[in-house]
Amino acid sequence: MAIATVNPATGETVRVFAALSPDELDDRVGRAHAAARRWRATPVAERAYVVARVAELLRERADRYGALMTLEMGKLVGAAREEALKCATACDFYAQQGPRFLARKRVDVVGERSFVAYQPLGVILAVMPWNFPFWQVVRFAAPALVAGNVALLKHASNVPQCALALEELFRDAGAPAGVFQALLVGAEAVEGLLDDDRIAAATLTGSEGAGRAIGAAAGRNLKKTVLELGGSDPFVVMPSADLDVAVDTAVKARTLNAGQSCIAAKRFIVHEAVARPFEERFVARMAALRVGDPTDPATQVGPLASKRLAEELHAQVEASVAAGARLLTGGHARGDSGAFYAPTVLADAPPGSPARRDEMFGPVATLLRARDVSDAIALANDTPFGLGASVWTREPAEIERFVEGIDAGSVFVNAMVASDPRFPFGGVKRSGYGRELSDLGMHEFVNVKTVRISTAGTTATTDAE
Ligand code: NAP
Repeated sequence: MAIATVNPATGETVRVFAALSPDELDDRVGRAHAAARRWRATPVAERAYVVARVAELLRERADRYGALMTLEMGKLVGAAREEALKCATACDFYAQQGPRFLARKRVDVVGERSFVAYQPLGVILAVMPWNFPFWQVVRFAAPALVAGNVALLKHASNVPQCALALEELFRDAGAPAGVFQALLVGAEAVEGLLDDDRIAAATLTGSEGAGRAIGAAAGRNLKKTVLELGGSDPFVVMPSADLDVAVDTAVKARTLNAGQSCIAAKRFIVHEAVARPFEERFVARMAALRVGDPTDPATQVGPLASKRLAEELHAQVEASVAAGARLLTGGHARGDSGAFYAPTVLADAPPGSPARRDEMFGPVATLLRARDVSDAIALANDTPFGLGASVWTREPAEIERFVEGIDAGSVFVNAMVASDPRFPFGGVKRSGYGRELSDLGMHEFVNVKTVRISTAGTTATTDAE
């Protein structure tokens, strides 16, 4: 794939970038490796200060960075600005809490001064997607840098200007040379980077296919990875739910970011007692959404990130209808650039059809009916993915059963799934492994070192293994 800015709202190729040559790439990795030695020796308070400064710059530059996201991948102008501001909150969180997460943890043992220490791993390769081009990068980089690691970003090929803006952001915040670098390279360069001994570990947010490729290459090299992959999140509505709020939230949860979110609600599992009113209201609301220019603040659904993605989504819709799904609204492209897709609702898609089996990465909802709680849980789990789940009920016993029974990295009750720096984020099954955010996200890329210092005058311990 060419490394280029192509405005999805117009189809215009704005700027094309040359990929780094093998020598340039080698030079960047060398700089990162050298920077890692110095950065780990920098006091944690200084590292945290740089990340706090990143937060300030994000707030100052939210409009400019937001405009870049809108240009390169079609995010609505307001949402793009919000994304920059959300990045700032994650930086604040790690600047403030990070030093505490990294503090030595004392373990009381008689005759010893013992503790667990958290030390950086070194150079971390981050392979990132275009759908939240700032958030995905910053939520990895903020904890990684405070922990003393350095970052090499291989961003998606369609957001090169966002990648370069992120490099500028960390540099302007005071990160020393080599601590955060953007590598303008294609996906084919990633395997070689994972073979490079100077790179310690990797994190990927992206598709299942990329996860398999990176997991395999890292495994061959015995390198740690965190994989944040796709999702087909269930949104379960039970009879006790506040239907108005549930419908409002369902529309938002399916169409946020033009439906291109790993934690977007994708399968709407509605109890048969409320299936009809839910369907009527949901379909009417989806059909009435304003689709169009992402720079117009009145627009509710912008373009997909490229014409190719809209074509792939349409092929999934057509295959689901051919397999027996009912099309209740949408089901076609919109506008001239080829990247816009009408908000679409499918009902009763049969098992095995794309709407049931695959991730639909766009504004396409699938409605399913459930007989009872057990049936709803079975349908919620009937997917290869396990990222998030949203459940709507006011019955405490039902809440408990859904919390226990749904196989996903998060369950939100009477709310839509969302990431928050204070809580771990990640998935099970084919949604990947490892966690981002919270203290766990920071501890993914550290050496958890056991230190036992005998103070009893002898070196032997009775329970040595
Ligand atoms: P993608 O095609 O997998 O691309 C993601 C990144 O991986 C890009 O930088 C891409 O580079 C690179 N890549 C692709 N194939 C690769 C390979 N074989 N080896 C090494 N690198 C490879 O995903 P996307 O379409 O950009 O993003 C959407 C996907 O990300 C969805 O599945 C979504 O659910 C998932 N996602 C997950 C989360 C989460 O936290 N779980 C969050 C957001 C998105 P190029 O651009 O150069 O191809």
